[in-house]
Amino acid sequence: MSVEEVDSFERFALAEPVLRAVRDVGYEQPSPIQAQAIPPLLEGRDLLGQAQTGTGKTAAFALPLLSRLDLTRRVPQLLVLAPTRELAIQVAEATKTYARHLPDFHVLPVYGGQGMGAQLRGLSRGAHVVVGTPGRILDHLRRGTLVLGGLVAVVLDEADEMLRMGFIEDVEAILAATPQGRQTALFSATMPREVHRIAQSYLRDPVEIRIESRTTTVEAIRQRYWQVRDLHKLDALTRILEGEDFDAMIVFVRTRTETTGLAEKLEARGYDAAPLSGDMQQAERERTVDRLRQGRLDILVATDVAARGLDVPRISHVVNYDIPTDTEAYVHRIGRTGRAGRKGEAILFVSPREKRMLYAIERATGQRIEPMQLPSREDIADRRIDRFKGLITETIETAELDFFEALVADYQRAHDVGLSEIAAALAYLLQREQPLVVDGAAARVDAHPAEPVRAEAAESAPRPRQRREGAPPAQPRSEGAPAERPRRERRPGPEVPMERYRIEVGREHGVQPKNIVGAIANEAGLESRYIGRIEINDDHTLLDLPEGMPKEVFKHLKTVWVCGRQLRINRAAEPGGHRRRSED
Ligand code: ADP
Ligand code: MG
Repeated sequence: MSVEEVDSFERFALAEPVLRAVRDVGYEQPSPIQAQAIPPLLEGRDLLGQAQTGTGKTAAFALPLLSRLDLTRRVPQLLVLAPTRELAIQVAEATKTYARHLPDFHVLPVYGGQGMGAQLRGLSRGAHVVVGTPGRILDHLRRGTLVLGGLVAVVLDEADEMLRMGFIEDVEAILAATPQGRQTALFSATMPREVHRIAQSYLRDPVEIRIESRTTTVEAIRQRYWQVRDLHKLDALTRILEGEDFDAMIVFVRTRTETTGLAEKLEARGYDAAPLSGDMQQAERERTVDRLRQGRLDILVATDVAARGLDVPRISHVVNYDIPTDTEAYVHRIGRTGRAGRKGEAILFVSPREKRMLYAIERATGQRIEPMQLPSREDIADRRIDRFKGLITETIETAELDFFEALVADYQRAHDVGLSEIAAALAYLLQREQPLVVDGAAARVDAHPAEPVRAEAAESAPRPRQRREGAPPAQPRSEGAPAERPRRERRPGPEVPMERYRIEVGREHGVQPKNIVGAIANEAGLESRYIGRIEINDDHTLLDLPEGMPKEVFKHLKTVWVCGRQLRINRAAEPGGHRRRSED
């Protein structure tokens, strides 16, 4: 779908402060029920809306009805009836958010179980909007503490629930106490006969809206959900990132603000993540998607609009971090994976309140979404250990090890220790920044009383991109990684796996090792001791640099000038193709 087809809130005749609040919240576009309900409600029409939980009904009625308030009259003009105290509070809070730029606006939640005193005080101060459960509202009406003579509109939210909870008589009594000419909107997930009867008796010529769940099949995609419980969604996502085999991932959130927020949190945890939202310039969005396509980025945190139509075959996983507002959006979202004949994985985070949306999605897609367990700490440790062993095997098979073997033998002779002890020490060094044992037990082995940390961080401050040399990219830092480095920071020299590079400046350009070391140390933010053997030839130079140079640094080094030549750095022919994968 093209950008022109994206719907927007601006097309509605909403009051300017209300529109501004929507922009603040960061909704990109109206949900289907909002798109259909806002115009008639703005015109003052009655409305009968059938839609599942989580489809955005609150904004569907609050935005237009708030736009119609006369703020100079501090009497209840809008009454919202909700089945439970929690829902009443939620609606009141959402209303407050949508009304934040309306001067001197007041909303009052009124529900059972709350002291009468506060409610009475609130009522006597006057509120433009009253949100409450039917029982308590009726109480106040009967006591004369709530007067609805100035009411302009009534909303019956989740009418089927109110019916189920035995509130229908109360609702009818309340409606009878409101002015004849009021506007009425009724929302319900289902339309039992009784609710329909209410609609027929109390709504005048209503606009009827039904948000259909469309059937679409998505067979190449395995769909799972995780029930949000004690763990935070961010921690759950981190576990998934580590426990699942993924190539590239899209994480869907609801608002633009969240795209940047979550992307930053993931970056802080060591992942290559970036936001993708409608806020970004078209060119910037394209650049971001290109980076994902080329594997320079592994995770996009996106909104529905921004990710629409995105076609990147690498995307193996879609995570619905926030549940979508309609089933169709879900189908669009998960359709970003399982492309080009590949298999895809879709994971949905569902809070208890959102269960109904989960069922609606299952109905709409005609497929079951299986519950999933998050990978446990042990699973994650096992995976790290497996990857680690795999790395050893691969290195033995593919890397040039002669030099290192000599080094180890030399060390063994000089120190009279066993090979297994040396190997263990090397393994320890390698896993230090991401301990194999998740709770950090392995890291404690060498936990000496902290010594002042070397000026490592300060030295590395001017690095063009903050990533440690010699570390594979896309390598998450673990939750349990030790904050301080162990003591005995030895000269890194040969323990850092090196890679051979070629630069296009040589003897005939008058280059000397110090020029090369200087340029590379400065421009790549490497300490010079990490720069290995330098072999200057006539028209080019070969040199060893730590393995796993970040792509940005690599790209930058290509453009650096030394002795009047651009380095145009490249990996020299690789012995045996010892390649990193983003997974290990
Ligand atoms: P319902 O009343 O249909 O159950 P809500 O009004 O409670 O749904 O909205 C559910 C969630 O969706 C809320 O977190 C809300 O902020 C969010 N939401 C509502 N409208 C939009 C929108 N247009 N875009 C993104 N998120 C939205
Ligand atoms: Mg609701």
